[in-house]
Parts: sequence; C-alpha cells; structure tokens
Amino acid sequence: MKRKISIIGSTGSIGTQALEVIEKLGDKFEIVALAAGSNIDKINEQIAKFHPKYVCVSKNQDKVIGCDNVLVGNSGLEEICSNKEIDIILMACSGKIGLKPTITAIKNKINIALANKETLVMAGDIVMKLAKENGVSIIPVDSEHCAIHQCIKDISQVSKLIITASGGPFLHKTIDDMKNATIDEALAHPRWNMGRKITVDSATLMNKGLEIIEAHHLFNMNYDDIDVVIHPQSIVHSAIEYMDGSVIAQIGLPSMHIPIQYAICYPDRFEGIKSKSFSFADAARLDFEKPDYNKFKFLSLAYKAGKTGGAATVILNAADEEAVFAFLQNKIKLYDIYQITEDIYFSMDIIKSPTIDEIFDIDKEVRIKTNELINRRQACLSI
Ligand code: MG
Repeated sequence: MKRKISIIGSTGSIGTQALEVIEKLGDKFEIVALAAGSNIDKINEQIAKFHPKYVCVSKNQDKVIGCDNVLVGNSGLEEICSNKEIDIILMACSGKIGLKPTITAIKNKINIALANKETLVMAGDIVMKLAKENGVSIIPVDSEHCAIHQCIKDISQVSKLIITASGGPFLHKTIDDMKNATIDEALAHPRWNMGRKITVDSATLMNKGLEIIEAHHLFNMNYDDIDVVIHPQSIVHSAIEYMDGSVIAQIGLPSMHIPIQYAICYPDRFEGIKSKSFSFADAARLDFEKPDYNKFKFLSLAYKAGKTGGAATVILNAADEEAVFAFLQNKIKLYDIYQITEDIYFSMDIIKSPTIDEIFDIDKEVRIKTNELINRRQACLSI
C-alpha cells in the first residue's frame, strides 16, 4: 500500500530533496499535500510533477496553478495537519511556523518526520509529552539525530550520545578571523549545502547547540550525557555509547537524501536514492577533536539554556535567529551574533513551564528586544 505523505516546506532545501527521494522511490508514496511559503513558481512546478490533492501557500494563492484545493497561511497548515488520511507529515519548514502544525498533527495521531528544529527547541517538553500520549512517532531528519535513531535499539541501555560536528568554515581559523568574516565566508560551509540561516548557525556552532537541545528531547537524555565532538569529514554522523562501553556509530557519505529517506520510510528501508557506497579505504582517515568552547561560545550557552529548561531555549533561539538575520543584512558582524544573543539571554526572566501561547509571546518579546539592541548598537557605531 502506498504511504500517504504531506510535506510542510516543500520548496526549501529539505523539502526539495525529499521530493527527489520520493520521485526515486516510485510508487511507494502518494503525496497528499504540499505546503510552501511564497515561492509560487517552484510550487507550481511541484504541482505539475507530483499532483498533490492540496496545496498551501502563505500568499498569492491566485497564482497557484494545477491544484483544485489551494489553502492559505496558518489555517491552511492546520487543515493539512488535521487530515487523518495521512500516514506521515514531513515538517521541513524552518522557523517557529512549524510548531503549531506539528502539535495539530500529533493530536491527530499522524507520525512526524521532523526536520524543523524550532519545534523541539521551543517546546520540546510539550511536544514529546503529546507525542507519547498520542502514540505518535517523531522520526528525526537531521543527520545527527537520524544517526542516533539508527543506532539505538533500547534507549534504557544507552549511557551517552555523541553528536558530531564538522566544525564549519572557521574550524581552524582564529577568533579574529571569525570576527572579521564576511557573509560569503560564513556561508561557505565545507561539507553541507543548506539554507542560509542554518549555514550561519553552523559557522558559529549554534546549530550544534540547537542539536544538543533537540537530542535531549528526542532521546530523553540528560545534558551531561550528550557530548559534542568535532569531526571535519562528516562521515560519522553521530554515535551512541551503551552502558557496557560499546560505541555504535552511523557512518556514510554526507548527503541529506539518506536521513530524509530513512525518516519518511521508517521502519522500512528501500534502495531509493542510495548514495554511492562508502569506502573506508578511500576515506583513508577520519579525524576527531574536542570543540574549542572559547571560540564557539554558543555551545556552552546552549548547554546552559538546555539545563535551565522552560523558556530559556525559546530565548536563545529567538535572539540568535534575529541576530543571524541582522548579520545576513550586513547590520552586525559574525561574532556579534553571539554577543547579542548572550546579552538578550541574560536580560530576560525565564519562565519555568511556559504554555504554547506563552512560548509565542516570549519569542515575540525576545525578537523585539534583540532588534532594539541591534539598532542601538548600529546607532552607536554610526556616531
Ligand atoms: Mg545537523
């Protein structure tokens, strides 16, 4: 029987690669709905090729061609995520827009292939509790969490998660190099081709910080039992240590097609878009080193926010995102992203167990405060 899938964020980096996977898998999937932001040309191409029953866009719905059921905005996403005929939803959008539709899908007992980071960073406690109550599986798409998911047989026997990080473009550069980095340098990731926001977060290792928080929620692991190791070749996608000391790692060439395919096909496996075979002999060497916490300060802040819990990770995420946007608009320097995020983080009161509405209120407040700080800094610099 065909597996019925809907994709939220079909025109983004993960969404387009997911459609490549699904195309390769032939008749294994039926696409029920595709949701995109404002890239109407791209969604029209996808409609012509994949014939979804429903399409959702954020605006310009009158320009959508070839689909009879065109939905709009948040209410459209809610409708897609309430459709009980779906077997799995791929949450491939970036940003907080993924959170509410994910909750709706979980309440409707639809399994989730999760690529959206904010869902767990902003509301991991709520989302994982709901998933458990509703018997819903959340299968991670991110290569590190997907690797851990593939290694785990029985989580109660696991003593440690070891998350690998490529180290990004500044791994062997000095702090001064990072301070003077251009946007292009920050976007030149040596291993992975991703969206702009996540690529900047990978350059500062904030992305790894967010992944620590996601791993804590996904696998119910204490922060002290989650390690980060730098592995520049991105061949070992992550590993776990069992209580008897055995370490199991998942290895493969760096390609997002593989974790996407794993997540949407789970628990089955198909050849699909199989990457070329990995050769240990060709790889010749795999390097590992400790992260430089002095240079990549986001790692420590992410552990701190994670351990604090409650709204702390909401604050961390929102302040960083606004600062990254400011960097991408040339308003601040790369290293300022951390400084601004840290300033905002320590200026806020942290609510212990916020509701979803409170999470969105805090997120909004943090974004306003972050932009005020960025603007004040710019004003000072231009005097
Ligand atoms: Mg990752």
